[in-house]
Amino acid sequence: MSVGRVTLVGGGPGPVELLTLAAARALASADVVLFDRLAPHDDLAELAPTAELIDVGKRPGHHLIGQESIEELMVRRAQDGAHVVRLKGGDPYVFGRGGEEVLACRAAGVPVHVVPGVTSAVAVPGSVGIPVTHREVSRMFTVVSGHAPLTEAELEHLAGLGGTIVILMGVSNLPSITAGLARHGLDADTPLALIERGFAPEQRTVVSTVSTAIWDASAAGVSSPAVIVIGEVVRLADEGVAAARSVLHDASSVTG
Ligand code: SAH
Repeated sequence: MSVGRVTLVGGGPGPVELLTLAAARALASADVVLFDRLAPHDDLAELAPTAELIDVGKRPGHHLIGQESIEELMVRRAQDGAHVVRLKGGDPYVFGRGGEEVLACRAAGVPVHVVPGVTSAVAVPGSVGIPVTHREVSRMFTVVSGHAPLTEAELEHLAGLGGTIVILMGVSNLPSITAGLARHGLDADTPLALIERGFAPEQRTVVSTVSTAIWDASAAGVSSPAVIVIGEVVRLADEGVAAARSVLHDASSVTG
């Protein structure tokens, strides 16, 4: 039997409408789909009608199936002749271990192709009206993984950049991140937004500041998955999210 192939697909931040046409086409011709928890999976039976669907559901801190086993399974099924779609949340190359999976395919001589996806780092803030850049407000944005604590050097650089900071996987390390940024000179009143479960019916936004975020996040019981945005652009959030705009000066608010 001839060797199959792997398509690594960025599934976007959740809704099926935010899959690309290329993603939908890859799914339509898939024999096997390996999908993550954050990838859009509710409509997979329709999108990939001929495929075997395998949940390799990653959760923060523990994986249903380890990364190595996912790569082995992906490569083995392709070597058996299948078109394997590896469906990931957001973009495969933004904290998605897409690079490792591509290398695993290449090492095994399996043809691999990557379909980019809409990343939550930009789309989730955007869903509540927060642009990551805005003329005369911020001309750069830095996307950081908060999965492991940041080093002093990283905190110092981030605090000094003067641009938007977007943190993924940062809910549990929020206290050390905000304290570290403030220690390195970031204004304690800098606006901060935590956007939980972007694009889901339960989406919720907490608007706060660098100095008050840990109290507001814990009072609201903020949990993963969430995107954290730090910077003046937070003031541009939709009315309702940031009726906050005035409130931000002295307090914080939680809205739906
Ligand atoms: N490759 C993905 C990111 C993977 S890391 C991408 O490009 O979007 C997983 C983290 O992404 C989560 O912990 C959370 O910080 C963020 N995330 C992904 N989807 C999200 C969503 N719908 N709402 C809020 N945060 C999300």
